[in-house]
Amino acid sequence: MENHLAFSNLNLTSLIKGVLGMGDKTRFWIDLWLTPVPLREVFPNLFLIVKDKVCLTQSCFEVVDGNIVWKWRWKRSSLNQNETNELSVSLNMLQLVIVNNTPDRWIWDNDLAGVFTVASMKQILLKNSNMPVPFTIKWNSWVPIKVNILAWKAEMDRLPTYVALVKRNVDVGSTCRLCGDYEETCDHLLTSCYFAMLIWQFVSNWCNIPPIFAFSVRDLLTFHEYCNLGLKKNKVLYGVILTACWCIWKTRNEMIFQNKTANISKTMKDIKSILL
Ligand SMILES: [Zn+2]
Repeated sequence: MENHLAFSNLNLTSLIKGVLGMGDKTRFWIDLWLTPVPLREVFPNLFLIVKDKVCLTQSCFEVVDGNIVWKWRWKRSSLNQNETNELSVSLNMLQLVIVNNTPDRWIWDNDLAGVFTVASMKQILLKNSNMPVPFTIKWNSWVPIKVNILAWKAEMDRLPTYVALVKRNVDVGSTCRLCGDYEETCDHLLTSCYFAMLIWQFVSNWCNIPPIFAFSVRDLLTFHEYCNLGLKKNKVLYGVILTACWCIWKTRNEMIFQNKTANISKTMKDIKSILL
């Protein structure tokens, strides 16, 4: 089994996810528990300066008056800009964490019921055997980390879109609220939805580049590589595309959760305000 996994660029720990109870088994930085990959990969700069790289999650927090307070132990007393940025994103993410008095448990991350089956393992091996080099997102240091993370999750189809919720038996209907016409998947929402297409039209005009045509999130994330703009402008364009993805997702969330109307000019303003 390990040989098959190694051949497919996978390892077993990346397929098993910790479900946090009291934090007694999951290692905060190393194990998969909060994000789709271990926190050391999400926050590489922080991981470099953390004192105990294999610490258990329970040693990283205290509960004070019913609230979780995260404790950090760094190798040095002051943090640089990248580390500070990562820390603020990580604190935002950690706000979602809930702990309780039960032991941590492990679930199989590739089955909706969280139960290991030979069939699901076979599926993973088959899926990965055709992809010798998995896609890795390039982090863009000119935009906030949260923007990078959103694109990275979207590429892996890990955003809680309506289609993803329906797959998890959450009965919300699968239609995209922005257009009302198609099923809301990550690819639809960020590429083929009419709202996204208007945004990409705006981006190509604004950046003075050929029209952006994309059929998948991956197409969007690699588009800048084919524009021959030179290293610096390529990086800027990539930052604009990542930011536009973030703002489309934000518009969609504001529409659903705050009853706001989706408005192209407002979303364009948001994109500019993050970048300028
Ligand atoms: Zn749509």
